[in-house]
Amino acid sequence: MDAQDAPSAGATPDRQGPSGSSLHDELERVRAALAQSQAREAELSTRLSHCEYLVKGLSRHTPGGLIVLDRQPDQHRRIPYASDGLFALLDLDPALASDPDALFLAMVQRIHPEHRAMIGKWEAAADAGSRQLAGDFKITRANGEERWIAMQLGMQVDDHHGHSIWFGMLQDVTDRQHMAQRLHERDLLLKSLGRNLPGIIYKVWVSPQGEPHMQYVSAQVKQLYELPADTPPNDWNRHYERIHPDDAAGVRQLLTTEGLDSSKPVSYEYRVLLPSKGLRWLAGQAMPMTEPDGSVSWYGYTSDVTEQKLYADAMISAKAAERANQAKSEFLSRMSHELRTPLNAVIGFAQLLQMDRSQVFGDTQRGHVRLIEKAGQHLLSVLSDVLDLSRIEAGRLPLDMSAQDCRHVVDDALQMVSDLARRHRITLRDDDIAPHLTVQADRVRLRQVLVNLLVNGIKYNRPGGEVTVNGWSDGGRVVLEIRDSGIGLSADQRAHLFEPFNRLGAERSGIEGTGIGLVIVQRLVTLMQGDIEVESTPGQGSCFRIWLPLTVDTPVDSGAIPLDDTPVGTASKDKPMTATILYAEDNEVNVLLVQEVIRMRPQWQLQVGRSGAQALALAQAHPPDLMLVDMHLGDMTGFDLVDAMDRDGRLRTVPRVALSADAMPDRIHAAQDRGFKAYLTKPLDVMALLHCLDEHLPSSARTQ
Ligand code: ADP
Repeated sequence: MDAQDAPSAGATPDRQGPSGSSLHDELERVRAALAQSQAREAELSTRLSHCEYLVKGLSRHTPGGLIVLDRQPDQHRRIPYASDGLFALLDLDPALASDPDALFLAMVQRIHPEHRAMIGKWEAAADAGSRQLAGDFKITRANGEERWIAMQLGMQVDDHHGHSIWFGMLQDVTDRQHMAQRLHERDLLLKSLGRNLPGIIYKVWVSPQGEPHMQYVSAQVKQLYELPADTPPNDWNRHYERIHPDDAAGVRQLLTTEGLDSSKPVSYEYRVLLPSKGLRWLAGQAMPMTEPDGSVSWYGYTSDVTEQKLYADAMISAKAAERANQAKSEFLSRMSHELRTPLNAVIGFAQLLQMDRSQVFGDTQRGHVRLIEKAGQHLLSVLSDVLDLSRIEAGRLPLDMSAQDCRHVVDDALQMVSDLARRHRITLRDDDIAPHLTVQADRVRLRQVLVNLLVNGIKYNRPGGEVTVNGWSDGGRVVLEIRDSGIGLSADQRAHLFEPFNRLGAERSGIEGTGIGLVIVQRLVTLMQGDIEVESTPGQGSCFRIWLPLTVDTPVDSGAIPLDDTPVGTASKDKPMTATILYAEDNEVNVLLVQEVIRMRPQWQLQVGRSGAQALALAQAHPPDLMLVDMHLGDMTGFDLVDAMDRDGRLRTVPRVALSADAMPDRIHAAQDRGFKAYLTKPLDVMALLHCLDEHLPSSARTQ
């Protein structure tokens, strides 16, 4: 009750006044006071109902819930008031409104167990004097649904009882929480993308006036452009300073909005000059988004593509080189074939003319013919070497690596150079080759290596000199050494020893050569996983040493020498022989040459089929004693012809000898596999042909 409501001192009844007027006055005063009191009561009642109306309205219509929390000094907590909204918010029984203690406990029960610890924190803050408490927590509604609630409490102290009374508001902020959570996750994702992508992601906003503003760029930008560590986060435009001057205008041009198609990403590539990494290539893509005000937002990604670019460039160069190599190889192969055919005539007829004993030629002419043959042979060896080298370099030299007995391969090689050694009066020695020395190598190619080195040892020697072959094992490798007592090589010459076509001055010495032999040797040794080393003293001689893998495998049977190098036969010309030879050949010059050669054996008869079909018909009509087959007939290949012959039972056993300008080892091996007795390459060596025929004509035919 305030002072206004209390009866005033002036209104105290005067008990002294006995007169009727004073009684009347007194009565009037009482009446007035009563009326005043009633008016006051009515006013209070109105105010009360207004307050109740307000409280009810607030209680029902305030979004969320309102509470009054009574925090008593004895740790007792109760909720004397809670709005309807609170019951709805926390899904509580409205009957609890009449039981403040139970209501408090029910509210605590609703708080998610993970968040109940917050209560302790709030209590502590209140104990520490805080008058405002706020926090978000999760609740679990009766149906198990989880919601997020934001609570704010303000305190008013109730001094009379030492209670503190807190007024608060609770609101459902589940949607806001979920959005915040999603925002947080997006933010984390963006950050981790920025950190982990190899390049940078960015957003550049270009104002309607065309001014670019870097609105976002991921953290890697500092590394990508090597920006100073103290570059302010909003000053990413400094990366423009790193762009190569020649590319800067192009990069600015990228951001122009003219003719922009916002449905297509824009790809770009430019160079940067970085303080430590130097010149780097960056590339990326950006997608423009045109805004209604005419500005454009670019969303893009840029990364360092220097390595990919170098790789791509290298790939392009490698492909170009491969194509060039391929073309070179094909050209050489075709050229070799084209040149071998006329060389066949040059060498073959030169050999025939030298054999002519008819006295038509004098010694001078014979000398000239010898020169023609020599020049032809030289051309042939250049041709073979160039072809070999090109095949090695094009990676098209098939190797047949197997265990080889060094003794046998050395013997083969020595046999092949023995004539040359005799002519140069050089002694060949091979006493010091360790027994059972077995090397992992391609037999034909190893022999080629040894022959090349032996030929050099003989050529660059002095009459009466020596060439020695030694062989031993060293660790896991075989060492083969070719030592000569020849002219030797200076250090300067050794430095250029393995350069193609560099003859190191030998071109002025009159010693024949092409300058490719050692290059081929080196490449072959490398291909067979080996190494080569040279020691030499001018005037004293040279020593070439090759290392190849040692093997403990049993050496393959070395008796079978590949067809190309079939040693000349030993059949005697003196034996009377009669035989029919069928020659399948479409080239008239070759036919003429072979006819001339066969004339040297009057007992032999030569039939010629000028196409595959004609040769087959002739063979079927009169099965020959031997077939000479050119491998490139006009209407079919030599293989087609022998296949057709195999289908005729009578022709299956006829021995076949291949004649071809194609000297590729794989062709030779293929012919061997198809049952050819021999494979003679053009240009034809007349003597070799004669010996081959001698050897392969069936003995019955020879002795008839
Ligand atoms: P070539 O066909 O000229 O012999 P090579 O490639 O085999 O070609 O050798 C290259 C050059 O190395 C030769 O021209 C020669 O000058 C020199 N050479 C090679 N082997 C020897 C050796 N054993 N003694 C001296 N010089 C050699």
